[in-house]
Amino acid sequence: MPVTTRTPRVGVLALQGDFREHLLVLRELGADAVPVRRESELDQVAGLVIPGGESTVMDKLCRLYGLRDPLRGRIAAGMPVYGTCAGLIMLADRITDAIDGQETLGGLDVTVQRNAFGNQNDSFETDLDIPELGEAPVHAVFIRAPAVSDLGDGTTALAALEDGRVVAVEQGNLLGTSFHPEVTDDYRFHERFLERVRAA
Ligand code: GLN
Repeated sequence: MPVTTRTPRVGVLALQGDFREHLLVLRELGADAVPVRRESELDQVAGLVIPGGESTVMDKLCRLYGLRDPLRGRIAAGMPVYGTCAGLIMLADRITDAIDGQETLGGLDVTVQRNAFGNQNDSFETDLDIPELGEAPVHAVFIRAPAVSDLGDGTTALAALEDGRVVAVEQGNLLGTSFHPEVTDDYRFHERFLERVRAA
């Protein structure tokens, strides 16, 4: 049998937020990427990106579409997942500044603070040194972004701002960034996610 290096099909959770941008990036990288809105679609993907958007709405829609428990099951079973911004919030075991009743999918043993950068500074851009991704800094775009705190033993902080706040984190097959690589032309985080999918 020939050895295949093709990446298995991956999904982007497409309930809300900037899922189209993620689909374009993944396809540009050669992946077979499809939107995921129902359990039968989730069953057909080997990895998932959870986009930016609004975590409170995404949480409600996950429950409404019957996706919350299947998603939790796949995360627990080790499916590679990459969450950006609201997607990172969805992956966090604990969140602060949530709205009443807001839940996450969990998986990442961290606390994530929603809207951590306040109103006067809700959007900004900066360059981050991320040695795991190579020498060139990553240009990071933050939009009403969360920050990561209380990182559990199994987690790795990949990037922090100058004030020390962690904005990229990894734990096993789960990867999360406070910022939005999908709106830049630097796709190293998506490549890292696809590497995990190929290895899984
Ligand atoms: N502040 C949003 C939330 O709480 C996240 C913003 C984003 O994804 N750009 O979900």
